[in-house]
Amino acid sequence: MLACTGVRKVFGSTVVLDGLDLTVAEHEVVALIGASGSGKSTLLRCVNLLEDLDDGMIHLDGEHITDPRINPDLVRRKIGIVFQAYNLFPHLSVLDNITLAPVRVHKRSRSDARQQALSLLKRIGLEEKADAYPDRLSGGQQQRVAIVRALVNSPRLLLLDEVTSALDPELVGEVLDLIRDLKRDGMTMVLATHEMTFARHVADRVCFLDAGRILEQGPPEQVLDNPVEARTQQFLRRLA
Ligand code: ATP
Ligand code: MG
Repeated sequence: MLACTGVRKVFGSTVVLDGLDLTVAEHEVVALIGASGSGKSTLLRCVNLLEDLDDGMIHLDGEHITDPRINPDLVRRKIGIVFQAYNLFPHLSVLDNITLAPVRVHKRSRSDARQQALSLLKRIGLEEKADAYPDRLSGGQQQRVAIVRALVNSPRLLLLDEVTSALDPELVGEVLDLIRDLKRDGMTMVLATHEMTFARHVADRVCFLDAGRILEQGPPEQVLDNPVEARTQQFLRRLA
């Protein structure tokens, strides 16, 4: 359902993505791993059309989304994205955080968006926090709200960039549980992570990014426990 073909992204003189190919099947969960600066976030930003490509193309459900003639807002409606931290607007209630984009950007009706927001909050057991401001929520609760907010347009694809790394360890579990729940529901996800346990527990496939490409990929137990490439072995050894 997602196909990145020959994706190239250059910042100044740094080639961050160098002809990268990645395909993701419907309902698949793919974890991107690799050293800091290897381009994991850049790839997610390219898929969400937050960065222009220097070469290559990206297709979503067969549609060429990096075609310059495409309306990025329509594409982003089909793709949810959640970042590491600072996801929620502090001056808006939880409910308004969730309904802002659908109403303002995607021109959905306010009552329709509210109703869906409430049902998403119910799903994560936070419906009583609908009118609270984000600073009244724990970090784990805030991140769960950020994740369900990304679901409000019923996206085809969810991109998660280090969604657990700003959290205290005791709060990571509740976010992982939500991601596992989404996986059970069949949500297609691409996530970038530094946490190999996270990758192991949620991913169907792990992709190791190195030198702007995917050097090695496969099931978590293969890539994380028996990597073939010397660079992957070296990367994992450094984490151990
Ligand atoms: P991390 O694991 O630390 O999150 P990453 O794999 O997500 O790293 P990216 O954030 O994609 O890596 O960054 C890849 C490279 O691109 C880095 O060298 C970074 O400095 C550079 N880079 C990213 N965004 C920009 C930008 N907007 N302008 C200039 N350079 C950038
Ligand atoms: Mg990153």
